[in-house]
Amino acid sequence: MKRNHAKLICDIGELSMTCTKSPCLEAFLQQSAELTASHMNSEVCSIYLYFEERQELVLKATKGLKREAVDKVTLKPGEGLTGLALKELRPISVKEASKHPDYKYFPSIGEEKYESFLAVPILRGHNRIGVIVVQNSKRNFFTDDDINTLRAITSQLANTIETVKVLMSIERKEKEEAEPDVDFTAMKFFKGRSGSVGVAEGKAAALQSKQQYFLCDQCLEQAKSYTLEDFYHAVSLTESELDRLQKQVEEKLADVASLIFTAQVLMLKDRSFIDAIVQRVKKGINPPLAVKQIVHEYTHRFQSLENAYLREKAHDVQDVGISLLENLIGSAAHQYDYSDRIVVAREVFPSDMLKLSSLGVKGLILLTGGITSHIAILARSLEIPLVFIDDFRLLKLSRRHFILLDADNGNIYIDPEQKVLDAFREKHPKQDFEMLAKLVKPSTHTADGARVIIQANINLLCDLKTARAFKAEGIGLYRSEFPFIVRPDFPTEEEQFVIYEKLVKGLPGQEITFRTLDIGGDKVLSYYEYEKEENPFLGMRSIRFSLQHKDIFRQQLRAILRAGAGADLRIMFPMISSVDEFIEARQELFDCIRELKQQGKPCHDLPKVGMMVELPSVVELINEFAGAADFFSIGTNDFIQYMLAVDRTNEKVAYLYLPHHPAVLRSLKKVADAVIGHGKEIAVCGDMAYDERYLEFFIGIGIRKFSVDSHLVPRTQQLVEKISVPAAEKLAFEWLRENKVADLSRRVEGNQEQN
Ligand code: PEP
Ligand code: MG
Repeated sequence: MKRNHAKLICDIGELSMTCTKSPCLEAFLQQSAELTASHMNSEVCSIYLYFEERQELVLKATKGLKREAVDKVTLKPGEGLTGLALKELRPISVKEASKHPDYKYFPSIGEEKYESFLAVPILRGHNRIGVIVVQNSKRNFFTDDDINTLRAITSQLANTIETVKVLMSIERKEKEEAEPDVDFTAMKFFKGRSGSVGVAEGKAAALQSKQQYFLCDQCLEQAKSYTLEDFYHAVSLTESELDRLQKQVEEKLADVASLIFTAQVLMLKDRSFIDAIVQRVKKGINPPLAVKQIVHEYTHRFQSLENAYLREKAHDVQDVGISLLENLIGSAAHQYDYSDRIVVAREVFPSDMLKLSSLGVKGLILLTGGITSHIAILARSLEIPLVFIDDFRLLKLSRRHFILLDADNGNIYIDPEQKVLDAFREKHPKQDFEMLAKLVKPSTHTADGARVIIQANINLLCDLKTARAFKAEGIGLYRSEFPFIVRPDFPTEEEQFVIYEKLVKGLPGQEITFRTLDIGGDKVLSYYEYEKEENPFLGMRSIRFSLQHKDIFRQQLRAILRAGAGADLRIMFPMISSVDEFIEARQELFDCIRELKQQGKPCHDLPKVGMMVELPSVVELINEFAGAADFFSIGTNDFIQYMLAVDRTNEKVAYLYLPHHPAVLRSLKKVADAVIGHGKEIAVCGDMAYDERYLEFFIGIGIRKFSVDSHLVPRTQQLVEKISVPAAEKLAFEWLRENKVADLSRRVEGNQEQN
């Protein structure tokens, strides 16, 4: 029969273009195989993909051979005629395959009767993507013309198939990671790094990757048949669930959470979204599959939008899809119930954190360092113990495993023995909030009577309640970026004013220290189009962003000044690198005061103006800064990062992130001496402030003011009460004499044991 090669090439081209619309990757490959077989008039056409990391060709689609063979037949490069085509990067055409020495016969796939064999490698440049094979039972069936045609086809398909392959690799990787095949009876202890202190125990829940859920068709194909009524029921269940969650979050997190679930609610109200699913169901598609297909389509549409904020909405589409499927399939629902669970996840976004918190998660294990620093800060405010660990095996934990999470020390125990559990519970009795609140004293003194002030770091307004209960002596750091990070757009001056007023009224009569917007680096705004930066931590961060976007900066300053009218108001600027920058920022503040006064708006007209000490450049210029600013707060988290050039969110270099590095300690001393010498105020507000290993050193170099997460106030007070100033000064003197990290590490450990 004459073969219509031109038509085939044309159809394949079309097929490539429609690939993105295909419901799944397997379907696309299968269609390609069928189309090729039909046009080549061959009885068999099979597509093998080559997976480089495994050095393996895998049969992924076939017309003519048994379908069960898909994914089962695998070959190494050079193995059999197919492997030979890949290894030698040339077509292999054989007239009588069974007689060929390289022919590799696979029993039970139905291949034995096909004698004519033609394999063409699928290549893109030098990349080996796979092999396409056509077979026919007639001997000597394929001509030179066929070889050229198949070559042309493969070169047209190569690009698309390569994309399919990448997606399949992701799917496979995710499946591998999710399957519970790690022997946790032999591996019962994992050591990570504390992100948010506290202890928790509960069953595990690996956060399912949304991508995996939507790439995997199996569970949906195997699902029983559902009706249109079932689907509508799932929609209304999902709506009421979202409504309940939204209310919960609003109550608890009024400042940041107003719109967290709204995008999802809107999706369910979008007629075209729901109708698209309904239409498919009416055409006979089982509702779970229809949901998946439409969610897939919508996700794709969102992901291809230019605007970053809208692109992010793809997550919401997927979340809605998952909720709908859970409510439809029912049995799968428990898989997404996180209440009282210790959740293991690759990474989470701030909005996910709020969701997890409202879903009642007890603890969190995060496997990557990405976007971690404000995730850790959020976790602390939400009082979710958090451990960071760079070990993907933990994703294989199943929901049966019980976890004991000691986030104070970064320890993860899997299915601990009863005696371990008992000992742990005895050592960490449940902290009774009321008891602690009663025990904490209104003012703090060292063992020998020196006065120390302990203030609260406030990230979310919900921290205020704890700060009040634990008698924090003011707010030493309000991280004003949180309402900006979690909301869907820049909050207006009025919106900020409402939040800031609550903050000021939350601790009446106390010092309130606002830090102006500190975004960039790892704290990104989803709605803001950042220009791509190679090194975001060294880029348009923090005060640099504010000085580049003075309209946003001034709105914030005006809101702070208005909310702070009549209060003991302090305003500080983050990440200041030069005196000029400080003066420029302060000038904006003065201009805002003048403007507000002209407009007759009540405001604070003489706030204390300070700065964070976070950059090494400040150390060298500290005397000049001390002449200019009213007060200083050392942000040790960034100070260490920039002093040692160690990304604070990168797990791979976490071992180099050393608060006790001699350069860090000596710089801190230098800063403290200069500021105190100028009679200005100095405080520490980074994580070192509540670390039992370093508190004594700070007292030793003359620092008497600390700002810590509000729930850590009692603990910090207890630590201070054990310290005496002469001993602290001696310790600081000895530490400052050391030149080597190793010697200081020993001293620091020794200090911890004593505590
Ligand atoms: C710091 O850098 O220590 C600090 C307190 O600021 P943040 O952690 O918010 O960057
Ligand atoms: Mg900082």
